[in-house]
Amino acid sequence: MIEFQQVSKHFGDTTAVDGIDLHIGKGEFVVLIGPSGSGKSTTLRMMNRLIDCDAGRIVFQGQDLQTLPPQALRLRMGYAIQSVGLFPHWTVEKNIGTVPRLLGWPAERVHARVQALLTLLQLEPSQFAKRFPDELSGGQQQRVGVARALAGEPEILLMDEPFGALDPVTRIVLQRELKRIHQLSGTTVVMVTHDIDEALFLASRIVLFQDGHIVQDGAPLELLARPANDFVSDFLGRAE
Ligand code: ADP
Ligand code: MG
Repeated sequence: MIEFQQVSKHFGDTTAVDGIDLHIGKGEFVVLIGPSGSGKSTTLRMMNRLIDCDAGRIVFQGQDLQTLPPQALRLRMGYAIQSVGLFPHWTVEKNIGTVPRLLGWPAERVHARVQALLTLLQLEPSQFAKRFPDELSGGQQQRVGVARALAGEPEILLMDEPFGALDPVTRIVLQRELKRIHQLSGTTVVMVTHDIDEALFLASRIVLFQDGHIVQDGAPLELLARPANDFVSDFLGRAE
């Protein structure tokens, strides 16, 4: 699905990502985890060209990412972030339908897709479709953000700490929903978090970052059974 080959990114004197190799296969749920400032968000943003790498190569579905126009690329990739960023003057329905409309889907198909996603995320359509973002709780806004990211049937779903700002109970509910959606749809998911419990619950594979490097990449049980070094075991040690 997506492959990083010796990819680096610098911001002035800061090396945010330092020569990483990363291969993400179709249908995987990959969690990028690590301390603050270790390069997780930069790595994710390079996938949809919000940032371009300055060394190495990224290949998406067999094509060099640099040859794909960012606007077209973003219609093929869902993106959800902690701050959600819903359009405040648009209803929930209009927000979720953004990408399908840009893709030129007929109105009835957009409508049906929005209804299906609201139901999937346990927001009763008759109750929520016509509301505006400021008429929703934080957890409900986050659900709408995830629904919007999924709406265009993306080839890959990218999420950057999507549940970071939520209370623990809502967070667990949304983690369960996300896991169910992944199991149902088989969509490839790449998610950034610094919450090790979230990573262990959701990931088919965990990629652990430290100072712009990948220190370990493997299935959750593999990391727990054979941490690559003290940094990994200390990090995993925070799991409850
Ligand atoms: P993480 O998501 O793991 O917390 P980031 O990828 O956001 O880390 O950041 C990695 C490093 O790159 C940090 O040192 C951060 O300060 C720096 N960085 C990230 N984005 C920018 C930017 N737009 N301008 C300057 N420095 C940045
Ligand atoms: Mg980040």
